[in-house]
Amino acid sequence: MRKNLEIWVFGDHRNHPRDRLALRVLSQARVLCKDKGRVTAILLGHGVETIGKDYIAHGAQRVLVVDHPRLALYRADLFTTVITDLIQEHRPEIFLVGASEFGKELGARIAKRLGVGLSAECVSLDWDEEKESLIASSPAFGGNFLARIAWNEKKPYMATLSSGTLPERPYDDAASGEIVRVEKNLEGASSRLDVISSVRESNETGRLEEARIVVAGGRGVKNSEGFNHVRELAALLGGEVGATRPAVDAHWTSHEQLIGQTGKSIKPGLLITCGTSGAIQYTAAIGGAGTVVAVNRDPRAPIFRIADYGIVGDCLSFLPAFIMEVKGHLFREITDLYRNQIRVGKDQKISFGQRIKKLRDDHKMSVVDLAEKTGQPPEFIEQVESDSLTPPVSFLLQLSQALQIDPSNFLTEQEKMKIDGKRQEGFVKRTQNYSYRTLTPGAADKHLRAFMVTIEPREVHKMVEYKHPGEEFIFVYKGELELTLGSKVFHLNQGETIHFDSETRHKLRNISDEKCELIVTLYTP
Ligand SMILES: Cc1cc2nc3c(=O)[nH]c(=O)nc-3n(C[C@H](O)[C@H](O)[C@H](O)COP(=O)(O)OP(=O)(O)OC[C@H]3O[C@@H](n4cnc5c(N)ncnc54)[C@H](O)[C@@H]3O)c2cc1C
Repeated sequence: MRKNLEIWVFGDHRNHPRDRLALRVLSQARVLCKDKGRVTAILLGHGVETIGKDYIAHGAQRVLVVDHPRLALYRADLFTTVITDLIQEHRPEIFLVGASEFGKELGARIAKRLGVGLSAECVSLDWDEEKESLIASSPAFGGNFLARIAWNEKKPYMATLSSGTLPERPYDDAASGEIVRVEKNLEGASSRLDVISSVRESNETGRLEEARIVVAGGRGVKNSEGFNHVRELAALLGGEVGATRPAVDAHWTSHEQLIGQTGKSIKPGLLITCGTSGAIQYTAAIGGAGTVVAVNRDPRAPIFRIADYGIVGDCLSFLPAFIMEVKGHLFREITDLYRNQIRVGKDQKISFGQRIKKLRDDHKMSVVDLAEKTGQPPEFIEQVESDSLTPPVSFLLQLSQALQIDPSNFLTEQEKMKIDGKRQEGFVKRTQNYSYRTLTPGAADKHLRAFMVTIEPREVHKMVEYKHPGEEFIFVYKGELELTLGSKVFHLNQGETIHFDSETRHKLRNISDEKCELIVTLYTP
């Protein structure tokens, strides 16, 4: 048995450690190598020593590091030159690259430069002991066949590997391996690529493989705006975004979100899959999902065969409507928690602050993001989240605005029915110039009350002027409002809000020719 099989793996560390592709390829290389030789990771970059140590803990027996400031950013042409030189110098037998977009470009360039064969997007590799050669399996003919591919004599045998079915070797702190620094003078090395900017992808993408909830979008969501619905629903549910190949190829989301034979295998408790037909290359990787909900406008779409719940409908109308429902539900939960906290203190399983934090995390917002969106200082958000401060009710409405939730979601179905009933009894109060109806019936003696106030157009206008202890928050639902607050006058347009100490004398006036509708929330101590 030979003992000198040298397998190289390209260390794509751009999103290390979040992106596990290189680690999986390392693991596959170790399986292939067994005790026949050695697995070496090729690491190009700047200041990447700690990543090298991680590669050893994940299976590399040696790491060749080329550390240079010119390699800090990925440039396919420069990387090709450096790696081709290394291959020509060390002559490995096998060179494996993860099939990321960059990996596919790099692999093809190196193979062309060396004049060797490259098997693309392989799902597995075997070593033929007898012939002492490599055999790859790769989907072919639209994925309906698995082709077995062999190389000619010219080495290295090159392959790009898809991660979908590759397991990862467990992290072994005690694993031994050497890190070898290779000096390269790259000062004069040319690159035809000018990197104008490089932006690390936001943490939109968590660990898709481990997500409890995944919302996936396919070609049927039509465009990037359609895909935003998928993204929004995933955020609201605290889940991750997944995608089929066409959605990734159209750049509606990143390759990291690809589910399938050539992407990731997932096992969420809930998968909502939208506008996906149910091709085998996709469904092969969702077998571990618990409940599958499919949305497709074609009742004969194969995805319905594996779905637990099927919704025959247009994603572009279903998703926005469903998102509104989810938002309403979520906001109700928060307001209930807020009310309960006022009533029963902190005997909650999840506190108000914890819920706000979870909501912020689910939306991948930082404390600063939420602070900006709600017009509060970051310290305020931190205090709310640690339950050391019960926020004014205006915060809830600011939150609803930040999340684009209709604030009338304050109402439970029961309350809505009650309001409807009360309305019959003349619950809507009218004066000559304005009317109001409560949005929180039965809360007359409570701290928190919300009203829908309608002020008639300007002609017969008579000011409403009053003051009371506590705080007031106004959201202009329709029309325009002039608010005189003490000696200051504010003009507010539809969608704008104001929060003030209601002890200050204030007057509301409709300054447009249309009805002005306001959601007024009062907090009285
Ligand atoms: C070697 C190989 C590997 C592959 N690997 C993968 C892989 O890893 N992952 C992967 O996903 N694919 C992979 N594919 C591609 C795969 O074969 C399918 O082409 C792909 O999964 C189809 O994606 P889709 O369901 O989004 O699109 P389509 O098959 O085009 O389906 C779109 C669906 O959306 C529905 N629809 C259209 N409009 C609407 C609307 N407005 N509302 C609701 N529904 C609507 C349609 O009825 C249709 O069923 C691979 C292919 C090959 C050859």
